[in-house]
Amino acid sequence: MKIRKVTTYPLSLSLERPQVTSQGAYNRVSICLVRIDTDDGLCGIGECLARFGPGAYARLIDDLLAPALIDRDPHAVKEIWDDLRSKLNGRSGGILFEAIAGIDIALWDIRAKALGVPMHRLLGGIQRRRVPVYASSIMVGEDVPAAVSRIRDLGFDKIKIKVGDTVSVESARIAELRANAGPECELMVDANYIYDEHEALQLAETAFEHCVRWLEEPINPENRDGYRRLAARSRIALAAGESEFTAHDIADLITSGAIGYVQPDVTRHGGVTECWRTITLADIFGVRFAPHVGFSGAVCAAAGLHLAAAAPNTYALECMVTPSAFRETIALDPVGLCHQVENGTVEVPQGPGLGIEIDWPQVERLRADR
Ligand SMILES: [Mg+2]
Repeated sequence: MKIRKVTTYPLSLSLERPQVTSQGAYNRVSICLVRIDTDDGLCGIGECLARFGPGAYARLIDDLLAPALIDRDPHAVKEIWDDLRSKLNGRSGGILFEAIAGIDIALWDIRAKALGVPMHRLLGGIQRRRVPVYASSIMVGEDVPAAVSRIRDLGFDKIKIKVGDTVSVESARIAELRANAGPECELMVDANYIYDEHEALQLAETAFEHCVRWLEEPINPENRDGYRRLAARSRIALAAGESEFTAHDIADLITSGAIGYVQPDVTRHGGVTECWRTITLADIFGVRFAPHVGFSGAVCAAAGLHLAAAAPNTYALECMVTPSAFRETIALDPVGLCHQVENGTVEVPQGPGLGIEIDWPQVERLRADR
């Protein structure tokens, strides 16, 4: 089996409801899909996290990466990964790794389809039929009681809240969340790195008092010393990983004990091949895995679900409660959606590959470059 063709699809759309995090309100989102066809008629689909300028990702893949894939064996994922990574001299990071992620996911889709098995079986780990999920997220400034009621009605028993206002305002919201969600509901807090270390420590104290499970990205992801200091002083676990591109990038936070939860996004973090390395490292160091989905689409949700099904250290998959056509309409049979939650879990697809079928006419309608 050989790779014959690589096709890119830069996509963009307006959200029904803006996503409000500490970093601002997002009205438009974008991703880039990658389709890889083989000489024996198989087709794999991948997705790149491409928050801005998805056309630039398509161009990068078309011009730089796709020529290196033609006539290669799709099973040689690590060899191909290392080859694509070598297109950049020096330290890892940036859109090259998000582009590699899209290609790598498509190759795993092909590999599993070629063997007629769901992707998680190829990873050789646990084979969960259902994966725990958490609701993401109550937005910054959103009415807490109304959001909790809506989310609980969907069947969730784990809820994340975005914070970004002053520590005193957000402390009150965390208390309100606990009061409304009840004692048995798991809670998480995500700051999208808006705070300094002192504010973050104060917030961690409030979160501890309300039995919050983790404080996510409290400070700038580049402030590694800050993470270690905060972890040593905070009484709750820190979570991070969505801002990291490779296992090597995140290794220090895992091995130093700075984080209790690692959250790579498979469409940013080099795809399935690299995410599995990070998951394995985290497992060795007792760090739990909670895959990020965020603004990404149906392919990200499916690939994250397979990783979560296989990983020994899975805690829960991020399940978005804000609508997006990228998650809901790109696949004819989307997975990991909030209305599919039962008893706090979603079903793992059992069809070959990622187990989703792409709605190609819909992909064409969402093209950013039409
Ligand atoms: Mg986050």
